[in-house]
Amino acid sequence: MLRCKCATGFDGPVPPRYMIVSMTLTRPTFPAPDHDHGRCTADAITHAERVCQLRAQKFTPIRRQVLQALLSSHRPLGAYEVIDDLAKSMPRPAPITVYRALDFLMENGLVHRIESRNAYLACAHDHDAAAMVAFLICEACGSVGEIPAAPVAQSLNAAARASGFAPKLSVVEITGICAHCQKT
Ligand SMILES: [Zn+2]
Ligand SMILES: [Zn+2]
Ligand SMILES: [Zn+2]
Repeated sequence: MLRCKCATGFDGPVPPRYMIVSMTLTRPTFPAPDHDHGRCTADAITHAERVCQLRAQKFTPIRRQVLQALLSSHRPLGAYEVIDDLAKSMPRPAPITVYRALDFLMENGLVHRIESRNAYLACAHDHDAAAMVAFLICEACGSVGEIPAAPVAQSLNAAARASGFAPKLSVVEITGICAHCQKT
């Protein structure tokens, strides 16, 4: 049985979809360059399997392969980079097939779209699809970190509504230099 890992201290079984709203902060925003990335990958795949099981969704081979390609690093990849990566170990998949798999992974909170890069990031934090995060994009190494951004997103949406605008999706992307690249 999946246990809720959110910050509220809730420790019961997780009802589908609603309880995992906070993002877990047990992992560093930017893992050290020499971290055990195999562990990140294995954890993310296990999390994806659980999410699919919990939501009665099929984790089909193509969905798994696309997620695995994105998990090759903490850098986002464009859809065609994903296709190139898959083509190394299987017949080159059609773009529509890969886009469908990406849509599925995004709907289930396993992958994020980095709008400013037109690229996709495998989520390294087991948060719910509804959690609001801001993306920190390192201009030196290309890694993308995630930080919780619910208060920021709420005040942005409130300011947008105050001006008569009906916000649908808010994306916060901040470019800069990560802590590891600042040291070098
Ligand atoms: Zn990693
Ligand atoms: Zn995420
Ligand atoms: Zn960096």
